[in-house]
Amino acid sequence: MSVDISPSEPLVVCENLVKIYKIQDLEAMALQGLDLTVQRGELMAIVGNSGSGKTTLLNVLGGLDRPSAGSAMVAGYNLLKIPERTLVRYKREVVGFIWQQTSRNLIPYLTAIQNVEVPMIVHGTSPRKRREWAKELLAEVGLADRMHHLPVQMSGGQQQRVAIAVGLANNPPLLLADEPTGSVDTATANLIFDIFRRLTQNYGTTVMIVTHDRTVTARVDRVVQIRDGKTSTESLRRTAINLDDPLDFNSTHEEYVVLDNAGRLQLPREAMEQLNIKRKVKLDVVEGKIEIRPAEESSK
Ligand code: ADP
Ligand code: MG
Repeated sequence: MSVDISPSEPLVVCENLVKIYKIQDLEAMALQGLDLTVQRGELMAIVGNSGSGKTTLLNVLGGLDRPSAGSAMVAGYNLLKIPERTLVRYKREVVGFIWQQTSRNLIPYLTAIQNVEVPMIVHGTSPRKRREWAKELLAEVGLADRMHHLPVQMSGGQQQRVAIAVGLANNPPLLLADEPTGSVDTATANLIFDIFRRLTQNYGTTVMIVTHDRTVTARVDRVVQIRDGKTSTESLRRTAINLDDPLDFNSTHEEYVVLDNAGRLQLPREAMEQLNIKRKVKLDVVEGKIEIRPAEESSK
């Protein structure tokens, strides 16, 4: 399989992406027409309340779940139409996946280096190359001295770092991580984010991280917020990361509201509550601005 590596094209393009889960007669619309573009080499975070569709999006992009409608292109692969056989290779070569539960990422009876080698064995990499690359990756995540340790002999944070190396074993262009720092302390979380940044720099890997941790969002290029299965706002980094004060989120990021392809936008919930906006608004274009005011009936 040839992975599309055309550098000018975005790596991920989702348009009007829909995912519906059916349980008996009940339908849950986890993604409700989501638009998202991710450039190659980007380090970005996805935030949003519980149930907003973050995991669903990651599972769809990871090839673990089939989208229901819309379009999802990753590295030239159309995830709505991809045949089952190609999907198996897609999961092995195009994406790496890191789960929040450390236990789900590693095989408990294999050492760190053996865990990193497993995906390469499946891929058919030669033993010598395998060993060399696994060592390089473990050094990259700062665990050169833990190569021969079993998962139980490592801390949760160290296990997550091994998991990152496993995710990169076949050098995929896209690394997906669902709450990778959800069960580690702040210092370890920062360390893990520094590793993600190095990976984008050293290998050009595109990294998408689901997180609810505001302190960590200051460490990425872009933060996209998902609300009710759609992207609602996004924050772009304006200045270089302030390493002296990485918690200084507002000075480094500027927030935008995202429009979908038809020009629809979602009003911030706080603003709607504050202005008592219900179902209708008045909209005027004035001097290079658009003003949105509560309609008379909604303020009653
Ligand atoms: P998040 O990761 O942002 O918390 P999820 O993507 O897990 O959100 O879930 C989004 C919505 O889809 C929720 O309403 C959830 O209940 C529903 N959902 C997620 N996975 C499934 C599933 N396998 N079957 C049925 N409903 C699901
Ligand atoms: Mg989730």
